[in-house]
Amino acid sequence: MAQFSRRAFAAGLPLAVVGGGLVPPAGLAPGLAAAPPAARVPPLAQIRIGRFTVTALTDGYADMPYTFFPGRSAAEVEHAAAAQFVARPSGVRFVFNQYLVEDGEHKILIDAGPAGSIGQTGALPQALAALGLRNDQIDAVIVTHMHQDHMGGLVAGGQNNFPRAELYIDRRDVTHWTDPARRSGAPDYLQTSFRMAADVVRLYPRLQAIDGPREIARGISIVDLTGHTPGHIGVRIEDAGRSLIMVSDMLFPVVHPAATDVNFLFEQDRAAAQAMRDRFFPVAAAEGALIAATHMPFPGLGRVVSDRGRMRWQVADWALQA
Ligand SMILES: [Zn+2]
Repeated sequence: MAQFSRRAFAAGLPLAVVGGGLVPPAGLAPGLAAAPPAARVPPLAQIRIGRFTVTALTDGYADMPYTFFPGRSAAEVEHAAAAQFVARPSGVRFVFNQYLVEDGEHKILIDAGPAGSIGQTGALPQALAALGLRNDQIDAVIVTHMHQDHMGGLVAGGQNNFPRAELYIDRRDVTHWTDPARRSGAPDYLQTSFRMAADVVRLYPRLQAIDGPREIARGISIVDLTGHTPGHIGVRIEDAGRSLIMVSDMLFPVVHPAATDVNFLFEQDRAAAQAMRDRFFPVAAAEGALIAATHMPFPGLGRVVSDRGRMRWQVADWALQA
């Protein structure tokens, strides 16, 4: 009988597959390798939570340089990426996942993506169109925090892009991101978020600033996850004994949840961000909580599991959109 070793198995595979498929194989149609997001069919993934259908959408992705993770050197982050077979020359790939929650009555969108303001993004409109949805059919948008990669899609061409939607954002973020003193004292890389926040507040008179945990529709409630930003929130979807928590930027690929003392450059209060991760990861692991995370590989659905004392991300089951 032939020895079925890993080496023998790999020897039979084309090089591009063994290499993880990160580099397009030579001879692939150039158009396929270089197609901008607008030309692609956006991926859609669904799970059922009781009476809710949750569809993961994605606006695209951006690669974050290895220098963007305070608490670890660039070499350490690159080494961790290599150990997970995702080390790209351009850095750690962040996907921008959004989630559509439907209960047969309401259509609620969680986050709106960067909409072209960073990386290869701007695909959310096609993702909604692929579901047969127009923006004016969205009843509510929950924005987990006012970073550009979560609210960019709220505004298009200087206009309110979801004209019928209620907009929910935590009051601490609204206050922070519309404060002129904080804006003038903030580094360059946060200026886009301040500018967008001003546009959003001006263009969405139906903005509802949220004060603490509350239910915004039956089975859909806000969870306080302050740290990443002052008003960083999660969204819990719960029905018939099942639940999903969309936790936004509680964890980032490659570095989390294995460690909590690694930050992301855009976090202004690093101690607060770490403190929330210190609290959240063990609880999530103990509960086996089903999680949706914005920047984890599409569709961002998984669990924090404790594996012999070490935290790791376990991808959850999901279905291709029917
Ligand atoms: Zn983010």
